[in-house]
Amino acid sequence: MARVTVVGGGVVGLTTALELARAGHVVRCVRDAPVADTVSALAGGLWFPYHVDPRDRVLRWGSVARERFAALAADPSSGVALRDGVVVERGAPDRWWTQGLPGWREAAAHELPPGATGGVVATVPLVTMPVFLPWLEDRCREAGVELADAHVEHLDDLDPVAAQVVVVAAGLQSGPLVGDDRGMPSRGQVALLENPGLHRWVVDDAHPDGMVYALPHPGWVVCGGTDVEGEWDTEPDPRVHDDIVARVRAVVPELADAAVLGSRVGLRPVAPSVSLAASERSGRLVVTNHGHGGAGVTLSWGCAAEVVALVGKHTAS
Ligand SMILES: Cc1cc2nc3c(=O)[nH]c(=O)nc-3n(C[C@H](O)[C@H](O)[C@H](O)COP(=O)(O)OP(=O)(O)OC[C@H]3O[C@@H](n4cnc5c(N)ncnc54)[C@H](O)[C@@H]3O)c2cc1C
Repeated sequence: MARVTVVGGGVVGLTTALELARAGHVVRCVRDAPVADTVSALAGGLWFPYHVDPRDRVLRWGSVARERFAALAADPSSGVALRDGVVVERGAPDRWWTQGLPGWREAAAHELPPGATGGVVATVPLVTMPVFLPWLEDRCREAGVELADAHVEHLDDLDPVAAQVVVVAAGLQSGPLVGDDRGMPSRGQVALLENPGLHRWVVDDAHPDGMVYALPHPGWVVCGGTDVEGEWDTEPDPRVHDDIVARVRAVVPELADAAVLGSRVGLRPVAPSVSLAASERSGRLVVTNHGHGGAGVTLSWGCAAEVVALVGKHTAS
């Protein structure tokens, strides 16, 4: 078994650290921000492979993660629920993401907003991130993961004994650590509305006025949104906020009178493809696990399982 340092404590780093510890490795997870301040904490938490590639690996990772989340839904303390919802289509349908998804069906006309050409109704995991991430940290501690607060400037700075293997899962900040400049931010602004009793989620990302989604959690609804590549600004824009609220209210009439609770911005770590590979660097094994775009939650457990397999393969003597 190896001594592994995971750099990153968002949803990707924490699930990876947990799975490595459960596989018997000695694991340290280093992160330079509280979990509540990560991009993962403001994610809508829907299992949906959005703005991420390559599709063949995404389908495999997503299916592993969906099954893990589905099992976790039996434990209310995890913040995971299985919820029905609809993906609205406008134009030629692209249903690649439904491969292997059990139980999905064609949406009926009365389930679709005006202008829609079709849609898919499915039951998928919806993860309340401010509940799930602390739950995940607790599971890590229970499994023996050391959670450390520190910034890693260079991988060479990590103690070669404690970090016999390094996993880079630092989201958007991973590139500089491994000399990969293919990643970039894609700015996502969301509005949080009080939940008036909504259970069904909706994704209408080709809406003519701009992307629309509403993801209902206990107490609030994460409403989106935007997806602007190359934008680093994390200050919510009040005009964008007003537009999001108006669009969502038009598509989801139940939210017409819901109180506005806030506005948030997160930077999706997008890349031409997810980086998940092992290589030898400065005499030790480095495994990358970053570039999950708009689907870090959706792929989390699947990518973690592949990291465990890679570490096992490369460290078995
Ligand atoms: C508005 C919005 C909505 C979204 N909705 C969804 C959704 O519904 N479903 C879905 O699957 N995905 C969604 N996403 C995408 C998802 O949030 C990301 O893909 C995911 O959070 C990436 O997780 P991560 O752990 O890689 O990165 P992060 O959450 O950014 O975590 C990075 C971690 O690395 C640490 N770190 C970085 N650099 C260093 C360093 N040098 N030293 C030490 N630590 C370091 C940070 O402290 C942090 O702990 C959404 C994103 C946005 C912006």
